[in-house]
Amino acid sequence: MSATDSVGGLLMYGIPNMKLEKSLIERRVQIMREEGIEFLVNQDVGKTLSPTELVSNFDAVLLATGATVARDLNIPGRDGPGVHLAMAFLTANTKSLLDSNLKDGNYISAKDKHVIVIGGGDTGTDCLGTSLRHGCKSLVNFELLPQPPQTRGADNPWPLWPKIFRVDYGHAESEARFGDDPRQYSVLSKTFLRHPDGTLKGVVTVDVDHNLQEVPDSERTWEADLVLLSMGFLQPEHYLNESLAMDVDPRGNFIADKENFRTSVAKVYAAADCRRGQDLVVRAINEGREAAREIDRDLMGSTELP
Ligand SMILES: Cc1cc2nc3c(=O)[nH]c(=O)nc-3n(C[C@H](O)[C@H](O)[C@H](O)COP(=O)(O)OP(=O)(O)OC[C@H]3O[C@@H](n4cnc5c(N)ncnc54)[C@H](O)[C@@H]3O)c2cc1C
Repeated sequence: MSATDSVGGLLMYGIPNMKLEKSLIERRVQIMREEGIEFLVNQDVGKTLSPTELVSNFDAVLLATGATVARDLNIPGRDGPGVHLAMAFLTANTKSLLDSNLKDGNYISAKDKHVIVIGGGDTGTDCLGTSLRHGCKSLVNFELLPQPPQTRGADNPWPLWPKIFRVDYGHAESEARFGDDPRQYSVLSKTFLRHPDGTLKGVVTVDVDHNLQEVPDSERTWEADLVLLSMGFLQPEHYLNESLAMDVDPRGNFIADKENFRTSVAKVYAAADCRRGQDLVVRAINEGREAAREIDRDLMGSTELP
């Protein structure tokens, strides 16, 4: 069951086409359909469909609703045109691309705009790559944290994920187009500037030190017609679990046992990003398979699923 008009979650509309070819998703969904799985789209559990009814009508319900509540930036000037959450930008772009090759105009265009992407993670990189493909006029990417070192720090030994400086496709493409890496490190956004008619004019920033303390007299003003906010994701949406009175952890994720994926509500399971926070596709697929195995075990008394 999916709240949108497609199956595949973020793999379909979230992750841009240049990173993930959608025919791969469609092929996989078709194989599952042929195996007998029924997909229902435009069914928003908690809005168009009652979660309690769903639970009483089925023997098991697995929640895999993702962690889609984005961190916002509520500084002066936030309200008004030109400032968008990254997912509004990326989702509309992919949908319009798939529906009409961007002919329907149902997307936020970066064409001929001075674009600032706030947030230096993977979603920010996808905003850079998409803005470049629209034909933006300039591109800057703010990151609050300092530039990572070229090699591992003493506090980041193997086998931890190496926190080192990396160049992803959006950075390399931006450098190829405009001559330099778009990233600006240790930058804190303070105010969105607006023209008298309300349109976006720019962003005022200050620099911060390694302790994220503001550096005196470091104020800068950046021109911007379009700002994309990609500062991470907080938690899953809560309208579904609240009506089920299901427990969430202090970060707002659904609590489910990591061995058997059971939540605090009988017959209800949770897996992937809604349980662990926004993560990676491979981990979501892995948890989905593990949860299927555990649900099979609960329903049948034993399981042969891997
Ligand atoms: C821009 C972006 C780029 C990314 N790039 C990568 C990458 O390159 N590599 C990588 O490994 N990971 C990447 N990720 C992360 C990856 O997409 C997620 O970790 C993964 O998709 C999580 O899968 P999921 O099934 O838990 O949730 P999602 O993919 O978020 O799917 C949730 C599904 O639940 C449905 N849903 C939600 N609420 C309801 C409801 N109430 N009723 C019915 N249906 C509902 C949604 O419609 C959706 O279909 C990226 C994420 C983003 C945002």
